[in-house]
Amino acid sequence: MTESALSLLPRVAVILLAGGQGTRAGLGVPKQLAMLGAKPVLRWSVDAFAEHPAVGGGVLVANDDVMAALGDLPDGWISADPGVERQQSVANALAALADWEDGAFVLVHDAARPGVAAAVIDRLLAALHDTEAAIPTLPVPDTLVEQVGHLAGEVVDRSALARVQTPQAFHLGTLRRAHAEAVEAAATDDAQLVRRLGVAVATIPGDARLHKLTYAEDMAILAGLLGIGTMMRTAVGMGYDVHRLVSDKPLWIGGIEIAHSHGLEGHSDADVALHALTDAILGALGDGDIGDHFPPSDPQWRGAASHRFLGFAAERVAARGGRIDHADLTIIAEAPKIGPHRAAMRARIAEILAIPLERVSVKATTTERLGFTGRREGIAAQAVATLQLPEN
Ligand code: MG
Repeated sequence: MTESALSLLPRVAVILLAGGQGTRAGLGVPKQLAMLGAKPVLRWSVDAFAEHPAVGGGVLVANDDVMAALGDLPDGWISADPGVERQQSVANALAALADWEDGAFVLVHDAARPGVAAAVIDRLLAALHDTEAAIPTLPVPDTLVEQVGHLAGEVVDRSALARVQTPQAFHLGTLRRAHAEAVEAAATDDAQLVRRLGVAVATIPGDARLHKLTYAEDMAILAGLLGIGTMMRTAVGMGYDVHRLVSDKPLWIGGIEIAHSHGLEGHSDADVALHALTDAILGALGDGDIGDHFPPSDPQWRGAASHRFLGFAAERVAARGGRIDHADLTIIAEAPKIGPHRAAMRARIAEILAIPLERVSVKATTTERLGFTGRREGIAAQAVATLQLPEN
């Protein structure tokens, strides 16, 4: 778009919705913060709008944690609190745009769609010169049928149907009116609210790159659509830990409690196996060790359940765009016998790491009554973690 064409345009604001928790994706972090290539999912949309010459400002609707993780907002951008429902989030953003004139244009976008192309923004803004609302749509490629229990029913005419994407574009005054009149009526998007005013909503060609991140496997689809290199490297980390056995303490090993005359002494629950595995994962990430992230000097970790440390390490992997390929653990103890508890430990560790059971191994050995483990003074654990991490 040329500079002279730009000067004729009304001001354009963006409402970027990043308020959802997005835990359905199973990425270990809110989906808007998952790493897609070199930057979080949310940053892709922020950058796409900030770099578009027509966009003069924006409202990012996100909670404080997301704001802190995202870092600086572009010039002219402000933040607003998310509502419980999407509609309330948009209303909060509209309130934050109170000093924008009704004649301005506004683009409402869901941050779970990181692939915003400048051409889509151009098409939407062009449409707003002839209409008060415009949305991107795509055809439905599959045959559609009615679902009748477990049976296929009548074929639905898909030529009369379309898939709706965001950003959705509106005259700001029209969107304000739609929200003001929608007090009790919930809608899943803003175009529906505007249609209830009797305002026509135009459609423009959507874009496959606006694919929505809903499930973990959508990350690979988006990487392909956005041309992000999916080259991964293997990283292996090892961990080792020892805790002293003392009487009158519960014994936690491998994420489960075992009935025994003695337990392990330590600042947390002293789960020696989960500590070794946490260090192995942090080692593969090159991300320090368990003591750096959870200092024993910090009273908040007194008696802490060690699955929190291991879950934290797994989240660091997901946030880096990586995955845990395998975790292998060896517990070194004279007593109690580990064998009867191995299956339960394996299942618990797979659960904490959110990986399949076959990617977790738990083994045990004695030291033939030699050394501190042989004298039952303590229990040791060794772990090896194998990760796949994106090449940068
Ligand atoms: Mg330890």
